[in-house]
Amino acid sequence: MSRKKLVLIMNRLRRLFFIDCSEANSNCDKAQYDDVKPLERARLLIHLAFCKACRKYTSRNKRLTRLLKKSHLKSCPEEHKKAWKKQIEEETSRQHS
Ligand SMILES: [Zn+2]
Repeated sequence: MSRKKLVLIMNRLRRLFFIDCSEANSNCDKAQYDDVKPLERARLLIHLAFCKACRKYTSRNKRLTRLLKKSHLKSCPEEHKKAWKKQIEEETSRQHS
C-alpha cells in the first residue's frame, strides 16, 4: 500500500472515530440513559482513551447516575405541593399577626 493511500485511510478513520470533548460529553450523557448508538459509544470509548478531562467527567456522571438510581427519587405530587404551600402560608401569616 502506498503512503498516500495509507494517510487517506487514516484521515478517514480519524474523521469517523475522533470527536471533540463536547461531543464526547454529549455521548456520555446519552450513554447514561442508554440512548447512545453503537458508533457513538465506540467514539466515546476511543476519546476516553486519550482524554483525561473526559474520563473524569464520565466517572462523575456515572457516580451521579448510580446515586440517583439508589436514592429512588420520586417527584412530588401536585396535591402535596399545594398542601405544603398552604401550610407554609398559614404558618407565616400566623407569625406576622
Ligand atoms: Zn475530551
